[in-house]
Amino acid sequence: MNLKVRCDVCKAVFELQVDASRYQRWKSGEGYVQTMFPELTSDQRELLLSQTCGKCFDSLFKEED
Ligand SMILES: [Zn+2]
Repeated sequence: MNLKVRCDVCKAVFELQVDASRYQRWKSGEGYVQTMFPELTSDQRELLLSQTCGKCFDSLFKEED
């Protein structure tokens, strides 16, 4: 399935290609995002978990330095 996720920080919309049945299982609390979606990049997994894209995630971390 094609999943659209919006970054809460920069409001950019990203399209992720995920397996629909695994997505449903993940939404119901089964398994970690990295084990359910090994095909996604770490940036894409972060987007699913925290609705923050890789670029914004990096800049949030930089501000804490
Ligand atoms: Zn962003």
